[in-house]
Amino acid sequence: MAEAAGAVGLSASTRSTALAALAGTEHQVLVVGGGVVGAGVALDAATRGLSVGLVEARDFAAGTSSRSSKLIHGGLRYLQQLNIGLVREALTERSLLLGVIAPHLVHPVPFLFPLTHHVWERAYIGTGIGTYDALGFSLGLEKGLPGHRQLSRRGALRMAPGLKRSAITGAIAFWDGQVDDARYVLTLVRTAAHYGAQVASRVQVTGFLREGARVAGVRAVDLESGAELHIRAQQVVNATGVWTDEIQAMVGGRGTINLRVSKGVHLVVPKDRIYATAGIILKTPVSVLFIIPWERHWIIGTTDTEWAGNKARPAASSADIDYLLSQANRVLATPLTRDDVTAVYAGLRPLLSGESDLTSQLSREHVVANPVPGLVLVAGGKYTTYRLMARDAVDAVVHGLDWRTPPSCTDRVPLAGADGYLALWNARRRLATSSGLHVARIEHLLRRYGSLAREVLALIEGDPALGRPLAGADDYLRAEIRYAASHEGARHLDDVLARRTHIAIETPDRGLEAVAEAAALVAGPLHWDSGQMAREIEHYRAEVAAQRASEQAGSDADAEAIAGAVPDIVPMRTGADAGRR
Ligand SMILES: Cc1cc2nc3c(=O)[nH]c(=O)nc-3n(C[C@H](O)[C@H](O)[C@H](O)COP(=O)(O)OP(=O)(O)OC[C@H]3O[C@@H](n4cnc5c(N)ncnc54)[C@H](O)[C@@H]3O)c2cc1C
Repeated sequence: MAEAAGAVGLSASTRSTALAALAGTEHQVLVVGGGVVGAGVALDAATRGLSVGLVEARDFAAGTSSRSSKLIHGGLRYLQQLNIGLVREALTERSLLLGVIAPHLVHPVPFLFPLTHHVWERAYIGTGIGTYDALGFSLGLEKGLPGHRQLSRRGALRMAPGLKRSAITGAIAFWDGQVDDARYVLTLVRTAAHYGAQVASRVQVTGFLREGARVAGVRAVDLESGAELHIRAQQVVNATGVWTDEIQAMVGGRGTINLRVSKGVHLVVPKDRIYATAGIILKTPVSVLFIIPWERHWIIGTTDTEWAGNKARPAASSADIDYLLSQANRVLATPLTRDDVTAVYAGLRPLLSGESDLTSQLSREHVVANPVPGLVLVAGGKYTTYRLMARDAVDAVVHGLDWRTPPSCTDRVPLAGADGYLALWNARRRLATSSGLHVARIEHLLRRYGSLAREVLALIEGDPALGRPLAGADDYLRAEIRYAASHEGARHLDDVLARRTHIAIETPDRGLEAVAEAAALVAGPLHWDSGQMAREIEHYRAEVAAQRASEQAGSDADAEAIAGAVPDIVPMRTGADAGRR
């Protein structure tokens, strides 16, 4: 089978090679943080011809970048704030992601905006969404997304019979983009590695190497082995999102970036609980609520409240869940109850501090700062505009390099799996016949891996038992679990069940039935013996139990205490432990 373009695998052995390279050679750029922004910086720098390293303290995308609403959008809210520039910028990105950079990972998604008032609302919202479309069309790249439509009450109910008739006067239908956020980051990391970046997860930066005032690299710890590392780099880029304050504290002095941390919670509900063929977006007293189609589920979110707890373990409380249910139930004919909730997840927004006390009114724009020579900080922004954040950060890096560097070219660099995706999608029936899999399976693989689906199919060719569905999570093939460890840098069960796949939020038992078989499938590539397999399974079970219990807690503090009773399998070091020097 032909090798797909951009197919650099991430495995236990590539991690060891990367760590040796990072410790042994000075790189031009070292990126700290493997969320969407850090991964984007690594790709931007690598594709400008720079030598690049990337270290991530946990799993790639384990922070905010796997806990978003998973929308690639212009942000209707910014339009309401008349921030046209921001909307236009984000819509340009949406077009690039849908059409050029990652058509396999970013897909159009239809939405309804139900109207609940009289004529003025239709005119007001209609003009807003019309402007949104017009901004998109004016970019000349919107061919994939149809324009918006005004719907009567009857038209709205035809698209979404599950809406409460008495709650709406009509609706506006429009399109936006949707992304598998965790897989997108992983694909960015793989693409950066393909262009030469040395990448390693579970490596935490604990301090800086200094030459006088200048930052000359980082002190880090390989959290898997406990080994201390000195990684030298001409420029360090910090892309640690909500952990930016901790990094600023390592530099000393007053931080140059003020961030506030806001928690956003989402519920996952089975598809059959809401009868609709499009997502739904509602205005709430403080922000908006999305009901978003997600495979065989809906994702409902989000909240927006200050979070002062452990940044590695944001936890949803009972109050968060009740709030989301009550907001959704305003327009649903059959109200949702706690029993309808398959799973819950919480994430933290890295918001630039502004003048307002309400976090939902703070800007989502980003900032790039250069507090001391050799260190660039990038923070804020949103998922949709990560590429611009990365470009701006690398532009700042280039100023500090004694090296002629071309401008960013990531608007023309398709991610791994994009190349050849369309042709394979068109040939999916043939692929189904040759592989013996149902065409729906092939579509599922193509939408997750793009043309790299061939690598998953090659595993099945070599071992047909891998072509069977995973027991307890039969949307996924056993080959996908093996591939997560052999090619996608997964190192622990949570990496596989929560981020390479979404079994942790898509199955009613949150992966408990699937976990033992998953462990057996990854044990080979991860060199686990039976003792480690048992420990990993036990830990995953304990984490699920703690998370479920925390969702019953009445307050953030209680929820955090319950969830935090089971730390990450490889916990980040904190405070004095992190060895601030
Ligand atoms: C609830 C919610 C919904 C959202 N929905 C959307 C949406 O629909 N669309 C959209 O465009 N945006 C959305 N966003 C915003 C978007 O998700 C974030 O802006 C984006 O994911 C932030 O990415 P990041 O790389 O800056 O941070 P992160 O993803 O948090 O990455 C930072 C990484 O740094 C690592 N790190 C921290 N300290 C260290 C250290 N010392 N050493 C090494 N590594 C370290 C962390 O482990 C982490 O993985 C949403 C955000 C939230 C919270």
